[in-house]
Amino acid sequence: MVLCTCGLQCVVRTSWTNRNPGRLFYSCPTYNSSFPFIGWVDPSMCDRSLDIIPGLLRTRDALEDGLALEQERADWEEHRANKEETRANQAELRAKMEEERAKKLRKYLIITWVLFASYVYLQI
Ligand SMILES: [Zn+2]
Repeated sequence: MVLCTCGLQCVVRTSWTNRNPGRLFYSCPTYNSSFPFIGWVDPSMCDRSLDIIPGLLRTRDALEDGLALEQERADWEEHRANKEETRANQAELRAKMEEERAKKLRKYLIITWVLFASYVYLQI
């Protein structure tokens, strides 16, 4: 158990600096403490690792950013397709309602003509 200078038990954190990528270190558990670094848990890395790991991390970050951007674009396309589908469904529904209305009006027109013809026939 490693204690901080403030007396609390240290927590283990991971460094992501270019000089110590992925290296564990002891730190004060208090947020914004004046003792963010107490000491290393891991031994130092060899020069070859220090050359390679930051580049790999940058590549990974760039790939994750690209993936997030593609996901966002795919989500937007899906949203747009759904909107188009909704619009098409609404237009179809409107067309059906117009057709029903036209059928009703045709029926009323026929009934009116029959009534008119009956009236004229009975007058004669
Ligand atoms: Zn502390």
